Amino acid sequence: MSSYYIWTIGCQMNKADSESLSTALNEAGLSAAPNASQADVVVLNSCVVRQSAEDKVVGNLGMMKSVKAKKPGQILALMGCMVGARTEDLERRFPQVDVFMRPQQFSPMLDLLEERLGIDTEGCLSAVAPASPSVSSYVPVIHGCDLMCTFCIIPFRRGRQVSRPVEEITHQVDLMTRRGMKEVTLLGQTVDAYGHDFDEPCDLSRLLYAVHSVEGLERLRFLTSHPIFMSQDIIDAVAQLPKVCEHINLPFQAGDDEVLEAMRRRYTQGQYRELVDRIRQTVPDVAISTDVIVGFPGETREQFMETYNLVEDVGFDKVHMAAYSPRPGTFAHRRLPDSVSLEEKQHRLKALESLQKDIQEKKNRRIVGATEEVLVEGRKKGRWQGRTRQDKLVFFEHPSDMLGRTVEVKIEAATAWSLRGTPAKSRQPSHAGVSP
Ligand code: SF4
Repeated sequence: MSSYYIWTIGCQMNKADSESLSTALNEAGLSAAPNASQADVVVLNSCVVRQSAEDKVVGNLGMMKSVKAKKPGQILALMGCMVGARTEDLERRFPQVDVFMRPQQFSPMLDLLEERLGIDTEGCLSAVAPASPSVSSYVPVIHGCDLMCTFCIIPFRRGRQVSRPVEEITHQVDLMTRRGMKEVTLLGQTVDAYGHDFDEPCDLSRLLYAVHSVEGLERLRFLTSHPIFMSQDIIDAVAQLPKVCEHINLPFQAGDDEVLEAMRRRYTQGQYRELVDRIRQTVPDVAISTDVIVGFPGETREQFMETYNLVEDVGFDKVHMAAYSPRPGTFAHRRLPDSVSLEEKQHRLKALESLQKDIQEKKNRRIVGATEEVLVEGRKKGRWQGRTRQDKLVFFEHPSDMLGRTVEVKIEAATAWSLRGTPAKSRQPSHAGVSP
């Protein structure tokens, strides 16, 4: 029996792709190998968002040269964001690679398996979904991005936005739900632009309604949204569909309008604040998280304070923050001098981290005494671990197997990062059907 080994780096989209490919290869009769040197087929699933990630992929491609030399006939595939529409340059740089696959494009590899190993892969792709999905799993729904934020490499590597058909996604969610998944997160770089590229454009809300109707699915989330695509229809769907969790990740990146323009984010601070207000009016118990970059080229201390003030005023539930680092290949790297010193970037980052820690602590302390619905995802350090509908991490103790159960937990203690409590009871949520 032939065997395969998949190495993955990068975001949840890549992890989801690797799980799906693994299922397709199992369907084709291959078995998983413990490492690359023992496998007949090796897949490197790549990421290019950070230079360090791309360097690791290049390092592994170099290592695979000697592995292949010792194992003639081994098939090496390069998958993921390093692979664009044209592969001539990659073919020249990495002649050891037998097949290149863009994210979610598994067919070239299966065709090669038929050709080289005589394996019949007919029908393998029709049921591509992880064979044993986690309680909470990810399903990519859009590939690529049509925007051109000046700091981001994604549009250059992944190309223009391509949305997967609604029927294909609901079929996959249905399969994964039958195999044990309880919560799905629909993934896209700009997930709220879902369907804008169809011949007859549609809105993410249509997909939310369709996925919501999958029997047995308990929770539905989506990630990551861009402020310019967040329509009222999407916000209404979050408010109206019982399975859609009250949590929206809405990156704002910078609080100053000039910096936002230099980033080409296409909105102003005022528009962002207005959008947050509208979301909170429509979905009163919503949690909002965000992404922020500090020390973007040319950002002054005063401009950074606009970011600081926005974080303070909005009171986010979580902030993913990073100091700007130039990414070769982007407009910012070519044209905007990295003018803020590393020391100053670290200083701004620390100030923001300290502010956000206080905000999160206060917010989480307010939950103490309340009873929260927690979907249990696993165990950590002898305790059960799960998340609330607002994406707060909760720990509790219980002697029984609670994995995959929805538990009412009375919250007794809180830190900035997590909650702790005692389960009141577990239940199976019943969600009535809802039509658009
Ligand atoms: S929206 Fe901007 S940051 Fe996000 S993937 Fe597209 S270009 Fe990159």
